[in-house]
Amino acid sequence: MSEKRILVVEDEPSLAEVVSLYLKRAGFQVQIASDGKQAMNILEKQIPDFVILDLMLPEVDGLSLTRWLRDRSDVPIIMVTARREEIDRIAGLEMGADDYVVKPFSPQELVSRVRAVLRRIGRDQAGAESERVLSYDSITINPLSRLVLVRESQIELTAKEFDMLYLLACHPKQVFTRDQLLERVWGGAEYIDPGTVTVHVRRLREKIESDPSSPKHLLTVWGVGYKFEP
Ligand code: CA
Repeated sequence: MSEKRILVVEDEPSLAEVVSLYLKRAGFQVQIASDGKQAMNILEKQIPDFVILDLMLPEVDGLSLTRWLRDRSDVPIIMVTARREEIDRIAGLEMGADDYVVKPFSPQELVSRVRAVLRRIGRDQAGAESERVLSYDSITINPLSRLVLVRESQIELTAKEFDMLYLLACHPKQVFTRDQLLERVWGGAEYIDPGTVTVHVRRLREKIESDPSSPKHLLTVWGVGYKFEP
């Protein structure tokens, strides 16, 4: 496989340099843009395989740049932020970043995150062809169109809600622990709060169960995790 090209958008030259050094050592080709405007110029010519994007940038900030880029491409993005509070991380991720790191971070950790995101995407693409439509009595789940029908009417799910429902429904009656769900649905990203799984299960129940307080499909297995009952 040819070397993956990574664009690093970072206005601190020393940080850009050290990140670039580690990425090159890990076998990536690296290009650096020192502000949002320059990044746009580069991205307009060619979309790289990966973008590492500082949130606080001169000219065009990281969030606007992400939005702009997402209109053009689904290239994976890792966002870099100076303070955890600076970004509403959910907003950042929902806008299309695949992961984020908080400064100061170890360049080695960033490299691992890049690899993890690439692995996750590779797995998604590899899995795409074997995906099948699941049909149980009141629920139909189509992984290609990502549509879910419950009692004949279409319901709206977020990307993660869909992924989690599909995973569970692909393996009816099989119990998944929270850690397994975090690993399979969120790609094992360490920054995700394990409570996220609980929240997603609750929202899914509200959407697919006729009585969310007494679920028939998405069942809790106390002390273990969750399973799908057809
Ligand atoms: Ca900055």
